Formats: sequence, structure tokens, C-alpha cells
Amino acid sequence: MSKDSSAFGPWPSLAYVDSGLDRAAARRGDPDFLAAAEADPNTRFYVTGGDLIVLARRGETLDPLFRPAEAAAFGPAVETVFLGLADKAARIGHGLAPETAAQLKTRPELLVIDLRSIAVQGLVSPAQLPPLAAAKAVLAWHGRHRFCANCGAPTKSSEAGWRRDCTSCGVFHFPRTDPCVIMLAISGERCLLAHQARFSAGMWSCLAGFVEPGETLEEAVRRETFEEAGVKVGGVRYYASQPWPFPMSLMVGCHAEAVSTELVIDRGEIADARWVSRAEAGLMLARQHPDQLYAPPPTAIAHHLIRAYVEEGTAVLENPAGAGAR
Ligand SMILES: [Zn+2]
Repeated sequence: MSKDSSAFGPWPSLAYVDSGLDRAAARRGDPDFLAAAEADPNTRFYVTGGDLIVLARRGETLDPLFRPAEAAAFGPAVETVFLGLADKAARIGHGLAPETAAQLKTRPELLVIDLRSIAVQGLVSPAQLPPLAAAKAVLAWHGRHRFCANCGAPTKSSEAGWRRDCTSCGVFHFPRTDPCVIMLAISGERCLLAHQARFSAGMWSCLAGFVEPGETLEEAVRRETFEEAGVKVGGVRYYASQPWPFPMSLMVGCHAEAVSTELVIDRGEIADARWVSRAEAGLMLARQHPDQLYAPPPTAIAHHLIRAYVEEGTAVLENPAGAGAR
């Protein structure tokens, strides 16, 4: 996201995107390369344990990268994943057992914390978030896929942590990414925001939902908006996507043209929904709303979808390239 500054200042970084890391996927099947990388003193490890990430306190900064000996000293990895190359030096995810990572919380030289807090609080540089997200997502996937979904036999990691192979029937299992649409429905000078019961009081965001099998992104946007808020949607314009490793989704951000405005709220899905004026949405982004309502943080794609609409209005719905949008 690189846009000129505006009334809201420079555009913030979307979290978990733009690492600059070379994934070097062609090396994943080369065991000699991987063995050499694990021992290379230039290699750096990201250390996770379930939902927890281990950071080193180094002077005034928090560092997510550990040298090979440092990572090994935390304990054996349950699984590892080769994340790629940074200036030809390997980056590897070192997955501890969750309870082992939790025990590290007592160590004063470390900060053991969840990834969402790291992103929202800006604890590490933005470029470190994508490999942390990949490591957390893939290593947690290994933990949930120890047995073959086809035959029930144990599986083992292969392809440098990017696949699990069944030891009995031979089926390959790949880490999933679950697409999830997140959309801002727009009706002229108003947009549709929702409050979820799990949100902090005062936070309102876009509607969102998982894409179902056999469904296009546009269809998912229309279905979810109608199911959750009773609003019919016409044109859909893709805006941007964001990896969302909680546990392993891809958020597909869209602007959607509302063709009805009456709200029929599904209270089983969302706590509330309302039409918010463009001006009011701007106050929510800036946290200046008179009722202390606010939008999600700048790290989240919802913030970017709302901001683009506040700045550009219904121009965000123009879609010269979107042949499939209507
Ligand atoms: Zn099997």
C-alpha cells in the first residue's frame, strides 16, 4: 500500500505483507541444502510455539531473529519450516511445543507474545511480520495434521515443512489457506459497518465471511452481506488482500455496491450493523467520533477499505478491469 499522504497522514502498512523474502521454493526438496542451511551461522530462526512468538530483548529493540545456537537452546523443534532467503541467508521457522514456548515467558531477556499483539503494537519491523505469519500458520498446521485425513495413519513432514506425507497410503497433504471475503458495502455517501460481540466496545468493522466451495469471491461477498445484514449487493470491486494467520486465512478485501439499504440483522452472526456516513467513518478512523466509535487498527485490511472509501467516495466502486464483478 503506497499512496500519497492525505488528511489522515501517510498510508500505514498493512500487516503481514511485503517481506521481501525470497521463498526459494525450488530448494524445499533439497535435503542437502536444508541440512547445510540449518547449520549455517548466517541462518536466522523465527521461534514459535502454537499461537506464541518468541522475541529477544536486545537493548531497546525486540528482535524476532535468533542464531542457530540460540534457537537450539530453547529446545528441540517439534517441526521446522524453511521460509526462504534474505540476502542468501536462510530463514527458518522453529516450532516449539506450545507449553515449551509458554515456559519461556519467565525469561527476562525474552518477550513471548501472540502475533496479533506484535502487529498491532508495532513491536517488530513490518518486514518481519510476513515470515512470522507464515511460520506461525504452517507450524501450527503441522500440529493439527499429525494423522492422515484419508486413512488415519501418521503423517510426516516433507518439502522443508511445506507438505505432510502419509506413511501408509502415500497421500500428500498441503497447508491450507482459507479464503475469507471482507467487504465494505457502500450506498452513496454511506457505508455499512458491523459490530461483533467479540469486538471491544465501540469498534465497528466491515462484514466478513468464509468463501464456500463452488463460490466466486463476488458471490461470497453478496451472500455474506445479505445473510448477515439483509443488504443486497450489485457490483463488487477487489481492493487488496492480506494474509491472516489466525489460524490460516487470506482476507480478500472488496468494496461492494449496495442495491438495497434496509437492514435485517442476523444476530447469530453479528451483534449489530448500521449505515455510517462517509464523514462519520472518517471520524471513526481518526478516533474522533463523538460517541467513541472507532474503526479497526491501521494494520488491518478493514481499516484500509474504510479509509479508501472515506478518501475517494463511490469512486472505489469503479472497476474498469473487473469483468466478473457484476
Ligand atoms: Zn493415509
